[in-house]
Amino acid sequence: MQSEQGVVAHSEPHGNGLAARLNWLRAGVLGANDGIVSVAGIVVGVAAATTSAGVIATAGVAGLAAGAVSMALGEYVSVSTQRDSERAVLAVERRELAEMPEQELAELAAIYEGKGLSPATAWKVAEELTENDAFTAHAEAELGIDPSDLTNPWQAALSSALSFTLGALLPLLAILAPPAVRVPVTVAAVLAALAVTGAVGARLGEAPVWRATIRVLVGGALAMATTYLVGHLVGIAV
Ligand SMILES: [Zn+2]
Repeated sequence: MQSEQGVVAHSEPHGNGLAARLNWLRAGVLGANDGIVSVAGIVVGVAAATTSAGVIATAGVAGLAAGAVSMALGEYVSVSTQRDSERAVLAVERRELAEMPEQELAELAAIYEGKGLSPATAWKVAEELTENDAFTAHAEAELGIDPSDLTNPWQAALSSALSFTLGALLPLLAILAPPAVRVPVTVAAVLAALAVTGAVGARLGEAPVWRATIRVLVGGALAMATTYLVGHLVGIAV
């Protein structure tokens, strides 16, 4: 709760908060994308080898579980590492502020002067920020870190596992269609979903929407074609 108060007190309205939320949303869309493509590849590949709904569903559920765990683990490791290095530079900053406040004040003033303020104004800004909360002022201006808003690795891990699972459920449900149509139904459902996640993801990342969407669609189609072919060949051989 301390951190929430910190965010309210220190970040500009509509500034960092919105960007951070869009980042989370974008990570969620990318996670869902991964879930759709991975599990679609698995169930289409197994469906090419067998008509047994039980076997196909088992493979799909196992793929979902493995993918969700692996996404969570990867996200946990990457966010933890990032947070460790942020904490390390924040600790250095805190020590510098305690040991040489005069130099640090001059440093902060220089940053604001570098941003285009006149020397007198930059000095006044630096002094007022230092008086209010020197540590946060330095963390934000010098390091670009909001010390009250470091990403929680558990939260990141959970949300990526969740978004992967939500995406994976789509091909898993589609493949339960009657045997004669299960592959075409799954391919159609997956491509339709990828068109949406591709476009939304590009939109959130401010990338060109059409190019990103086509890339995602081609990638998904290739994944399913590849595993279908492999599943078919293995099905014949075994
Ligand atoms: Zn500093």
